[in-house]
Amino acid sequence: MLLTSKLPDIGTTIFTVMSKMALDHNAINLGQGFPDFNADPRLLELVNEAMLAGHNQYPYMPGVDSLREVIRDKVSSLYKRNYNKDTEITVTSGATEAIMASVLSIVNTGDEVIVIEPNYDSYVPAIRLAGGVPVRVSMDPPSNLDDTFHVNWDRVSAAVTKKTKLIMVNFPHNPTGAVLTDSDLNELEKIIAGTDILLLSDEVYEHIIFTAQGHLSLASRPKLAERSFVISSFGKTTHTTGWKIGYCCAPEALTKELRKIHQFLVFTVPSPLQHALANYTSDSSTYLNLPEFYKTKRDRLATGLSRTRFKPYACPGTFFMLADYSAISDMPEAEFAMWLTKEHGVTVIPVSAFYASPDAIEANHGLVRFCFAKTDDTLDRAIERLMQI
Ligand code: PMP
Ligand code: GLN
Repeated sequence: MLLTSKLPDIGTTIFTVMSKMALDHNAINLGQGFPDFNADPRLLELVNEAMLAGHNQYPYMPGVDSLREVIRDKVSSLYKRNYNKDTEITVTSGATEAIMASVLSIVNTGDEVIVIEPNYDSYVPAIRLAGGVPVRVSMDPPSNLDDTFHVNWDRVSAAVTKKTKLIMVNFPHNPTGAVLTDSDLNELEKIIAGTDILLLSDEVYEHIIFTAQGHLSLASRPKLAERSFVISSFGKTTHTTGWKIGYCCAPEALTKELRKIHQFLVFTVPSPLQHALANYTSDSSTYLNLPEFYKTKRDRLATGLSRTRFKPYACPGTFFMLADYSAISDMPEAEFAMWLTKEHGVTVIPVSAFYASPDAIEANHGLVRFCFAKTDDTLDRAIERLMQI
């Protein structure tokens, strides 16, 4: 069959590859980002209740009313922006669909889109399917003085051209755990001032943040929010990554275009799940208590890793922790991750997989990503295995 692939160089995602490898080798999977514990039984009951109450047919295309109301109120109380639930909030099939629909809705052939590398794997394929040109700007890697990755805004600014249509950002950042500061937002404001550049902000880890200041959403800055798709996901917040319920808040003009794509990608997303999430999330403790919940796990992993030859890095946000393995091996990251699964039964994700050229020296800092959204028992068993190295 003669096929012309639209994405000839794209294979199966690293998350799926590593999860399969973990299964094949009976390894403890600290790779792909998903909790290995169940969601709150109350939330599961609410799904049953919604089904029994008859919420089993197509819901309203942009999302059920009560869920968009809850999203509106949450965003308004946390970030002080009042999105109109009828014209500015859309419930999507996970953040993944929101990202794809946003990019497809506004990026045209030849438009340049700035992506901050290392980046989540769905961004570049979305840009390319839209006919756009990804322009990658690397973060500054950790140094002896500072063990976190940082956006180099001078390099972002230098990458802007007349063709720049969109800048995509993701904070708290997967895979590095980096979070935004006020100064980052100031820099971003300066870069877009006097341009028509749009923004896409992937904030799926907004509620998994450990800094005193908490998450700084692009929604909290009027100059940024007025041209942003702000995207989040209930998967991370309610331990239900398999439900694939996300959302996008964006000004009316952007939302109008987004919904044109959303209605033909998926039309709408499962009704009982939306009703249950609306009910559940109306109690703000379900997301406000998340930092405390995950901090215990983060610290358990960090303490455990410090008893091995890995060197754990600071993790201000997300449920991922990077660790340096240079005391163990000088293998490239992908090779090391495979070796660790096969020889020591612990699966991690190579950070290099988040770069355009995973084999390049610049993509290999001797770091792997551990997911700590796991039970204490899973984390402890993994540490025991890692201590053998
Ligand atoms: N963006 C980032 C940064 C992620 O880590 C993930 C995934 N897990 C997603 C988007 C996709 O979210 P969802 O599962 O809601 O589609
Ligand atoms: N976001 C998850 C991660 O970074 C994986 C999601 C997926 O497998 N597509 O591990």
